[in-house]
Amino acid sequence: MPLLVMKFGGTSVADLGRIRNAAEKVKREVERGYDVIVIVSAMSGKTNELVAWVEQTSPLYDAREYDAVVSSGENVTAGLMALTLQEMDVPARSWQGWQVPINTTSAHASARFVSIPRDNIEAKFREGFRVAVVAGFQGLSPEGRITPLGRGGSDTTAVAFAAAFGAERCDIYTDVDGVYTTDPRIAKKARKLDRIAFEEMLELASLGAKVLQTRSVELAMRYKVRLRVLSSFEDSDENSGTLVCDEEDIMESKVVSGVAHSRDEAKMTLLKVADRPGIAAAIFGPLADAGVNVDMIIQNISEAGFTDMTFSCPTNQVKRAEKAIADARAAGAFAFGELVVDDDVAKVSVVGIGMRSHAGVAATMFRALARENINIKVITTSEIKISVLIDRKYMELAVQALHDAFELDKAA
Ligand code: ASP
Ligand code: MG
Repeated sequence: MPLLVMKFGGTSVADLGRIRNAAEKVKREVERGYDVIVIVSAMSGKTNELVAWVEQTSPLYDAREYDAVVSSGENVTAGLMALTLQEMDVPARSWQGWQVPINTTSAHASARFVSIPRDNIEAKFREGFRVAVVAGFQGLSPEGRITPLGRGGSDTTAVAFAAAFGAERCDIYTDVDGVYTTDPRIAKKARKLDRIAFEEMLELASLGAKVLQTRSVELAMRYKVRLRVLSSFEDSDENSGTLVCDEEDIMESKVVSGVAHSRDEAKMTLLKVADRPGIAAAIFGPLADAGVNVDMIIQNISEAGFTDMTFSCPTNQVKRAEKAIADARAAGAFAFGELVVDDDVAKVSVVGIGMRSHAGVAATMFRALARENINIKVITTSEIKISVLIDRKYMELAVQALHDAFELDKAA
């Protein structure tokens, strides 16, 4: 029988009524002839509550117990979803991660998949069960412990199952009706996209569009899983939501597909570092070891053997970065004149696979920002993306200006 993966996020299973609503969508697909693997998140807010309980109980918690507690919210929704389906006469069975088993690495709180054997679930389908409800977010380490897949990890569970079972599609049911050209709370003219390419979605997800966990998009791209994002609160048909797919499956697309933003960025500049081989390694090695997620990096032109090195990182990692730099300096790894921190910046990016074959996107972007008198502090580009750092207070204005400049409110 053809197989579908349907994933329901926290708001879609927030209470018994919503679980019932989700179960009805599952039942409809079963009636259409699909076997279904349902992946559920914890009820919305549950995982945060569990994290808080762990931190209150033991501030320097044992990682394995954190994992055990924090991954437990999904067990409740998986069981309740299976019961609800049974009440609707749909033969369903729930599965916790270890029962499948979902084999992962043993990394605390951010494990990675190793394998998902199909035998156990397929045996149940052969017995006549039509739905396997799997607790999202959970894995099993080689040591036999529960390993969560990182916050938002149920998306990744869903894609991994779709890949492992060769599902026809992976439907991600959530509280928005698809992927938008930009955040509709910022730009009223934001438009829902019917299709978006994996690469574009990957950029948008990692730039702060919170619809999908970034790793789920990476995995979908690698295994060519057709991924659909749609609302669990609306009636849906074959064409609802946004399909995240291979670029070959997109007939027409604009040069720029979306504008992303990320509010909490900081810019740090090391003034007067020696311009010599190994200097970048000496600076960014300790930052990486300290777990600082460095994003943009710029090295200025050198003068008299010295240069300035600027990089960006999330605002909440500034303290950690400062300490890593101070420690490395004290240990004699490198010297510098001054460290200048600007933690009042935001990043705005335009993304689109069309940039590969069209010139002039950067010029259009910079002109649009100039018209609004917005000063650009840092620029970086990749094949399908241009990002700028600007003063945070202009972030909304920049997003709106760019959305207009690239006419994203109009379909291709
Ligand atoms: N419940 C987990 C979280 O809140 C995983 C998920 O919902 O995707 O991060
Ligand atoms: Mg989520």
